[in-house]
Amino acid sequence: MYALEINNLKKVYKGGVEALKGIDLTVKEGDFFALLGPNGAGKSTTIGVLSSLVNKTSGQVKVFNHDIDNSLDKAKSYIGLVPQEFNFNQFETVQQIVVNQAGYYGVERKIALQRSEVYLKQTDLWEKRNSPARNLSGGMKRRLMIARAMMHQPKLLILDEPTAGVDIEIRRSMWKFLTDINKSGVTIILTTHYLEEAESLCRNIAIIDKGKIIENTSMKQLLGKL
Ligand code: ADP
Ligand code: ADP
Repeated sequence: MYALEINNLKKVYKGGVEALKGIDLTVKEGDFFALLGPNGAGKSTTIGVLSSLVNKTSGQVKVFNHDIDNSLDKAKSYIGLVPQEFNFNQFETVQQIVVNQAGYYGVERKIALQRSEVYLKQTDLWEKRNSPARNLSGGMKRRLMIARAMMHQPKLLILDEPTAGVDIEIRRSMWKFLTDINKSGVTIILTTHYLEEAESLCRNIAIIDKGKIIENTSMKQLLGKL
């Protein structure tokens, strides 16, 4: 079973920027997959299309076999998204943010509270549960975004540059719990421009540059070539 299948995906933004020039990509269920590329390569656009924040120009995208053109809601229910920007209400507490998120997906409040304990402990934020989000450090805010994305128990977790601007120690602790999440059966796709991050975490990798996939291989094979 594929968690994700992308066929000939194209995106031309208004104004004419060809951000994606016909991308093909498959990610197997259970994989830990990196989309690696320099700034401007098309990583965020790809993730934007997957999460329906960006309208594709053409091509086909399937999430666990559900085509986003025909069954977008179903496809989205499988996805937990961690965007780059902190897009939560800074005045809400850590626990409110994650519990409310579960509410959007129709999770019962009692269950949401139970889950919030699991995911806030996993991301090492349980002690901070009653703090307003604005009081958190940058690394804590990133972890909050991940805990929030897990609250509807997605089968596919997609992270856009999850450790951008985070220092190396916190980055390592994030790698640890992302690995744990993957081991629990969740497929993970992340974008990064650090080869080291892809190397430490991922089994398979695609390299994107100027809107095209220029390499799509296992991490082992790629490292053999370098
Ligand atoms: P879509 O086709 O997905 O609706 P748009 O082409 O409407 O996307 O662009 C969304 C917004 O982002 C527009 O307001 C656009 O001006 C703005 N934008 C333009 N260039 C860039 C850029 N290089 N990076 C990020 N945002 C941009
Ligand atoms: P990456 O995430 O790899 O840095 P992006 O997907 O953000 O790359 O950008 C790919 C290309 O599309 C870049 O040339 C960028 O300037 C352009 N772009 C991104 N968002 C928009 C937008 N909303 N409107 C117009 N151009 C955009």
